[in-house]
Amino acid sequence: MQYLKNYIGGSLREPISGNYFENFCPSTAEAFSLVSDSDERDVELAVNAAKKAFSQWSELPVQKRSDYLMNLAEIIESKLEMLAQAETRDNGKPLWLSRSVDIPRAVSNFRFFATAILHFSSESHAMEHIALNYTLRTPIGIAGCISPWNLPLYLLTWKIAPALAAGNCVIAKPSEITPYTAFLLSEICMEAGLPDGVLNIIHGYGHKAGTALCKHPEIPIISFTGGTHTGKIISESTAPMFKKLSLEMGGKNPNLIFSDCHFEKAIQSGIFSSFLNQGEICLCGSRIFIEKNIYERFRDELVLKTNQLKTGDPLVAECKLGAIVSKQHLDKIASYVKLAVKEGGKILTGGNIYKPAGRCEKGWFFEPTIIEGLPVECRTNQEEIFGPVVSLIPFENDEEAIRFSNSTEYGLSASIWTENLNRAHTVASKIKAGIIWVNCWLLRDLRTPFGGMKSSGLGREGGWESLRFFTESKNVCIKY
Ligand code: NAD
Repeated sequence: MQYLKNYIGGSLREPISGNYFENFCPSTAEAFSLVSDSDERDVELAVNAAKKAFSQWSELPVQKRSDYLMNLAEIIESKLEMLAQAETRDNGKPLWLSRSVDIPRAVSNFRFFATAILHFSSESHAMEHIALNYTLRTPIGIAGCISPWNLPLYLLTWKIAPALAAGNCVIAKPSEITPYTAFLLSEICMEAGLPDGVLNIIHGYGHKAGTALCKHPEIPIISFTGGTHTGKIISESTAPMFKKLSLEMGGKNPNLIFSDCHFEKAIQSGIFSSFLNQGEICLCGSRIFIEKNIYERFRDELVLKTNQLKTGDPLVAECKLGAIVSKQHLDKIASYVKLAVKEGGKILTGGNIYKPAGRCEKGWFFEPTIIEGLPVECRTNQEEIFGPVVSLIPFENDEEAIRFSNSTEYGLSASIWTENLNRAHTVASKIKAGIIWVNCWLLRDLRTPFGGMKSSGLGREGGWESLRFFTESKNVCIKY
């Protein structure tokens, strides 16, 4: 069994507790590695290493920092197949998805911010004949980056890359459920010759290692992606220290299907937005609102297409859905489907734990599931399930569609399907969510602001938003 040690000060270190816990492969339910059970003592070591590295790293010419990040991108790209296999083993997602999305996106994250930082500039404000203001944007210090299990390397690098590009040192805490590619990244950093202490990766549980990171007085900035409940805890623990905070949290996103949509495209995209990555993407459209006059047609076609999806061994190319990330999460999904039935929902397809034959017979799988007949305000339609489960709800008119969409505590994203330009603009402006797609889903431009409203998020990531977040601005006013 491989020991996933911490990466501190440029080398791999045992956790000070000496303890490890098992890391499982979701598609076989077998433990395949041991994760460092880190605590505040390991975080302290990482803080000391990062402090030592900070002055040199932050003062390095921007081009040099950019070169380091480009080099990381190149090494990740050269190991794409190995990393994709590792991600699939750790998370359960189909290998074709790790190959085409997760690892390529980790490469893009490093490349994007390695080049963005070369073009990052700050403002100047001339007060005519009186004075000149100019704004300096400087690195903040040690950034804590905490990431979830659904897109492990993809989301970890989405935070690390801009933080490092902006001149900060980083202590990263990947999810304890999927730590494997983060561990491989630490080996890549050593191979790339990244200066010691610039990036440190601490493994372990959220309530131990994560809490220690958030509470450490010498880590003034935290970027977190994960559940809303955890976001609240982090908010509470960091507020008295006035830490700079970015929170990317849960969602219960609406997918709005108007009768004037391009039907085939809406169906095809609906399949993806419901079940891609087993529905374990914060942006998945788990509530599908369908205009009444096409409700039956859309429902029947969606069920038909869903029944054609193969669930099973993530190494088999035909399998569109792989394994659910953990036994605990599988049970949570199953319990929500039970709740849906109790609340009066009718299961149109799926609804059960699935056991594929062969290599994955012990793995954790769930059938893609479509439910109808539930009111918008019931728990199934209000709470994030984060699995391959969607609920269909008919609507009467635009006003009702907007009201239904805005009826949860969340506000991360929405998809609108209509060929009517006026309707698209109007509905997009009225939905309370940070990311709106019209006639598409998950189409991402890394320059755009990314994040949620209400209980889905605080702050934005992406493009200049990330670089502004990871820098401190200072205005200098010079009187003529
Ligand atoms: P989680 O909140 O359980 O864990 C996320 C990370 O936080 C992990 O690294 C965990 O160890 C750490 N953590 C847990 N408790 C902590 C604490 N008290 N202090 C500090 N760190 C702590 O979330 P998860 O189950 O890993 O991920 C699923 C959630 O993430 C879903 O709600 C999903 O919607 C959300 N998500 C949001 C986005 C987005 O961009 N908005 C993207 C992906 C996932």
